[in-house]
Amino acid sequence: MILSKQKPWEEILSYLDGENNVFILGCNGCAQASGTGGPAQVEEMKNKLGEIGKKITGSAVIDFLCEKALVKSRLRNKVEQLEAADSILVMTCGVGVQAVSAAVNKICHPACDTVNLGGSRGEWRGSERCLECGECLLDYTGGICPLTACTKGLINGQCGGASKGKCELDPEKDCGWELIYNRLKGLNQLNKLRRFIAPKDYSKMMPDVKIISTSHWALERTDQKEGG
Ligand code: SF4
Ligand code: SF4
Repeated sequence: MILSKQKPWEEILSYLDGENNVFILGCNGCAQASGTGGPAQVEEMKNKLGEIGKKITGSAVIDFLCEKALVKSRLRNKVEQLEAADSILVMTCGVGVQAVSAAVNKICHPACDTVNLGGSRGEWRGSERCLECGECLLDYTGGICPLTACTKGLINGQCGGASKGKCELDPEKDCGWELIYNRLKGLNQLNKLRRFIAPKDYSKMMPDVKIISTSHWALERTDQKEGG
């Protein structure tokens, strides 16, 4: 399972600044289990955004937003609602936001931060990867994770070493920042590259201490106390 927590309301609102029409996507997988993007949270988000005058052009909760083919097939009957939206607010983990961004040619805003549960994960295999950094940057990078798409994990642009679109450290691999540039260009969002992203606070990777105490760490502590 991938654990996520909802981003602060002010941050979500800042993403939607200047946009009036929003499509909301939730996930019936890990996001529902995390209580961040299941049917209840999507309904709540629709109401909150409606109260401040945003028009919700449509919404959907899909079983696994981390599966691009599934996302595409489930959104086939939502084309008009998606076309009417300025953007999609995606209420799930970083893998899911990346998969939706790759599947739908639309601005995708992450509504959640993905945190590290320290255990095994159930995400679909794909080109999308998330380091569970606890402070999702996908809004600024066109839905492509700079921490995983860039070999050096750079968060403020290209290192300058790329050659013909390939990474200087791995010529077999596309340069993550060229992918980000091209995605943002296609979405007419290159202005997002002007924003400076502060160094990451990796303490945010960890889940809330209440969750830690229900995970395997707590079991290990119990074992240690019992001399196991
Ligand atoms: S920025 Fe990347 S690593 Fe961090 S939560 Fe988003 S997808 Fe995951
Ligand atoms: S060439 Fe591109 S992917 Fe490789 S380290 Fe530099 S910015 Fe990152």
